[in-house]
Amino acid sequence: ARQFFVGGNLKMNPDTVAAKVALIKAINVADLDPTTELVISPPTIYLLPLKDILRKDAKIAAQNCYFKDSGAFTGEISPAQLADAEIPFVILGHSERRTLFHETSEIVATKTRAALDKGISVILCIGETLAQREAGETAKVNEAQLEPVIDLLKESDWSKIVVAYEPVWAIGTGKVATSQQAQDTQKDIRAFLSKAVSPAVAESTRIIYGGSVNGSNCKELAKLPDVDGFLVGGASLKPEFVDIVNSNK
Ligand code: 13P
Repeated sequence: ARQFFVGGNLKMNPDTVAAKVALIKAINVADLDPTTELVISPPTIYLLPLKDILRKDAKIAAQNCYFKDSGAFTGEISPAQLADAEIPFVILGHSERRTLFHETSEIVATKTRAALDKGISVILCIGETLAQREAGETAKVNEAQLEPVIDLLKESDWSKIVVAYEPVWAIGTGKVATSQQAQDTQKDIRAFLSKAVSPAVAESTRIIYGGSVNGSNCKELAKLPDVDGFLVGGASLKPEFVDIVNSNK
């Protein structure tokens, strides 16, 4: 069975160190389902201090990294630096990075390879826009985003990948995918992994859902056979995040 996985993607929130520490303290004292793998992803500047105070049964993740180990790349952080700082996870390919920062699927694939080479696990985000869904291109778009990654990975690398299906139209909009949409799309993604990588990888890889997940809709989504957890934005800043972590109970 695939271990349920919940990631809190804090994005560029909240505004203060104090608010971040309060958030972590709330998670630290919460009664959390020990069978859920929990990962918290703060902005880069807070990775190390928050890692030190975060409960030891949870993990910290970076929101991005570059693909070079070191050098003249102002403003970037390397997989080697994340590894040295013992940051075990990185989110790559988030739609905000693809859209606002022009990351192509090839760049995302190169970054994924570089992170894995340093032993860092990757939360790999994919997903279609509303226009693409309405044009019936959802599967095609998800497959095109996965293909360059598949090309650069060995079968054994997949144990360190969590695929996050995040339909762009559901991110930060309050418009969560219906159970049918999430299940159908994630089933398709798993079928594609089976064909393009292997049945074993498709069976063991966690495929999680992201996009307007909250304390009220998480229980129903968590029951879906191809939804192995969540990547949570806005609600990860709120007390209801605990309910999302515990939604598989
Ligand atoms: P929201 O939960 O705010 O919709 O964001 C989802 C997301 O982008 C997580 O990476």
